[in-house]
Amino acid sequence: MNHFVTQNISPETITAVVFCFGLVVGSFLNVVILRLPQQLKAQWKNDSEVFLGIVQEDKNEVQPSNTLLWPPSHCTNCGQQIKPWQNIPVISYLLLRGRCNNCSHAISLQYPFVELLTGFMLAVTVAYIGDAINAIYAIIFTLCLIALAGIDVNEKLLPDQITLPLLWVGLFANINGTFAPLPDAVTGAIAGYLSLWSLYWMFKLVTGREGMGYGDFKLLSALGAWLGWQMLPLVILISSTFGAVFGVAAILLGGQGRNLQIPFGPFLAGAGWIALLWGDTIVTWYFSGFNAI
Ligand SMILES: [Zn+2]
Repeated sequence: MNHFVTQNISPETITAVVFCFGLVVGSFLNVVILRLPQQLKAQWKNDSEVFLGIVQEDKNEVQPSNTLLWPPSHCTNCGQQIKPWQNIPVISYLLLRGRCNNCSHAISLQYPFVELLTGFMLAVTVAYIGDAINAIYAIIFTLCLIALAGIDVNEKLLPDQITLPLLWVGLFANINGTFAPLPDAVTGAIAGYLSLWSLYWMFKLVTGREGMGYGDFKLLSALGAWLGWQMLPLVILISSTFGAVFGVAAILLGGQGRNLQIPFGPFLAGAGWIALLWGDTIVTWYFSGFNAI
């Protein structure tokens, strides 16, 4: 067995190392969350202009404006480049007291939040999944979910560029039944997509409105590919419960009325992560309680 926990290294040390690794990766996820939608929007704008004949050439092909690695991190307000010491996860935010060193513009709380969340989620993931290969898969799963949730919160968008690879990697991971037997994973991917797709069309035909987006179907499809179809009811139950509680709280506190749009992606992502780590435990506990009655 490829256990992380060996005789030489204590579980606490591993948790601490993974937590720090998570802080650094979380810092990169912040860049993905901020820049991937910008890149996509620039590409869509350009594609539309080429299609409408407004411009002749594909500008993004000629001159890539913004990539994940270029330009270097800078203040979104004054453009001041961020020095290496100002780029240390969480610590720099505290040292700078949440303000740009140059223009004193407030730095979004999203940065330290995503870093801490990534550190915490990776540490918990590795602590629960002892097997090294499985843990690496679970880390990929967790990172994709955090990026998707962050982008959905900011942009109400779940990019295909993340949901679709996530789906394929999930099916690949389950060729050997890592998290679910392959037939259950394939059925899960199909059922995940079609269940929300049917709900979407029923809602649209009845109310004439769109209740959710195609990104949500693809994300649930990916979750089905990772977890197997048996976990989908649990994922829907957890995500819709938390989504509804959050929605009611937001309406009561914000007073924005019923037109308030709440992205569903973060709730799906959170529920998917919970189901990967504790799904079997929750389902077993539920049915054992059920049988006892
Ligand atoms: Zn600044």
